Amino acid sequence: MPLALTNAENSADFDTKDIIAMVSRVIPVDPFDLVIFGGTGDLARRKILPGLFRRWCAGQMPSDARIIGAARSRMDAAGYRAAVKEAIAQFGKDIRAEAEQLDGFLSRISYVTTDARGEGGWPELGAQLRDGVVRAFYFSVGPGLFGDLAERLHQFGLITDASRVVVEKPFGRDLASAKALNAELAKHFREDQIYRIDHYLGKETVQNLMAVRFGNMLFEPLWNAQYVDHIQITVAETVGVDGRGGYYDKSGAMRDMVQNHLMQLLCLIAMEPPSKFDPDAVRDEKLKVIRALEPVDYHQIVRGQYDASSEQPSYREHAENPRSTTESYVAMKVHVSNWRWAGTPFYLRTGKRLRARTSEIAVVFKETPHSIFGDEAGGHRNILTIRLQPNEGITLGVTIKEPGPGGMRLVDVPLDMSFAEALGPDAEDVPDAYERLIMDVIRGNQTLFMRGDEVEAAWAWTDPIIQGWEKRGEVPKPYDSGSAGPDDALMLLHRDGRRWRDIRT
Ligand code: NAD
Repeated sequence: MPLALTNAENSADFDTKDIIAMVSRVIPVDPFDLVIFGGTGDLARRKILPGLFRRWCAGQMPSDARIIGAARSRMDAAGYRAAVKEAIAQFGKDIRAEAEQLDGFLSRISYVTTDARGEGGWPELGAQLRDGVVRAFYFSVGPGLFGDLAERLHQFGLITDASRVVVEKPFGRDLASAKALNAELAKHFREDQIYRIDHYLGKETVQNLMAVRFGNMLFEPLWNAQYVDHIQITVAETVGVDGRGGYYDKSGAMRDMVQNHLMQLLCLIAMEPPSKFDPDAVRDEKLKVIRALEPVDYHQIVRGQYDASSEQPSYREHAENPRSTTESYVAMKVHVSNWRWAGTPFYLRTGKRLRARTSEIAVVFKETPHSIFGDEAGGHRNILTIRLQPNEGITLGVTIKEPGPGGMRLVDVPLDMSFAEALGPDAEDVPDAYERLIMDVIRGNQTLFMRGDEVEAAWAWTDPIIQGWEKRGEVPKPYDSGSAGPDDALMLLHRDGRRWRDIRT
């Protein structure tokens, strides 16, 4: 989706048909070899492989692209192709494809059995890689293996100048471990070869947020403490931690969601306009926001843990840890201390087993300084809502006169910039986050990936909060499954004369 229109397109006749034509315009990427370490794992099966197939069907992948699965399981290329076919059938149900397209895609796939900690399989992998094309190594494995994989790739001479490495979250569990991971990767890859994925940044709406902010004259002058009352960032999930309680119990909402996803969203909302839409210009501005975050007073943070409901066990049962003090919910008030945002609070919250699955950012503007319509008209505010899921889209709430006779009554109505509504069924062709990010790796565009210093700065801000909880032996507040979170989180805003937006789809 091009962010800027050419002059010819930027005409008064510009309509939905033109948007569809632009969305459908696919620019093929250069030839590449992509090695997926952890190619038999859950992430590869659910996201990476179906995502690649979608790009294949869209005509974005060159016909000679190579995708090589690499994992410990013993199997041959035919066995892996069968597994990929099954994964696409299970997780790519929405993909509109002909049988020949699937055969064509599978013909690009092979497999090697390798162990990150062993010597086997590496020469075979090397034999499958071509010179002179982009070489991408996707580390879809736990972070404990990043260093081993980088070391083996180096040892067997597989890292070329055109090589890139993609790493998954979690990128560390504190500042020290993130620094250690950065150092392990830096031994064999330059920073411009390292792609740290945060799939929130790959969402269409997140990029649209930048287009709305920096492509319009309308918003930027108002984007500051003088006009914005506060900002709410919500990532609510209905699922619990069942199935991955063991992992989650060592992590918690702060590490799993706030340090990365919520922090990245906050940066995009709060950052200064970069001089150009270029990876380092954007990431420099994001880094400045993280560095401007004030330490959070513990009175301004609420931790929660979900209780059992009539149908579902409690967090502690899911985590199989009856005395767990890990939070499945966190809400906090954060200040960005710079000229633009001084005095404007950012309220962040995220949690599991909440009322609805929804992710949104709401920029709540101040009320007009004086109402010419009198008290009965009530207080009305403009709210710009950026919805990441479900139904990605941007809505601006504006106040208008309630239609009809009966005097001057005001009502808030949404100006909807939802992609799905503008484009109808064609909106389905907009790539999902993983697809877009993988194609960006091949194109060599790091704008939507976290830089090493950004990740470290985010941990440097997060660490004292977590250490404070540990030091005080703080126990999270229980909350009902299917609720909006603990009551104390409501109080966090009530105390400031504000209220959270409803959690609903
Ligand atoms: P998984 O356990 O399903 O798969 C792990 C893969 O790693 C398997 O293919 C396995 O064969 C391979 N592997 C394990 N040890 C190996 C070794 N010594 N040498 C070579 N290969 C080895 O894990 P997953 O859910 O696919 O997650 C992979 C990574 O992605 C993890 O870091 C996870 O935190 C992250 N992640 C996963 C998801 C998800 O939805 N599954 C989402 C975000 C991030």
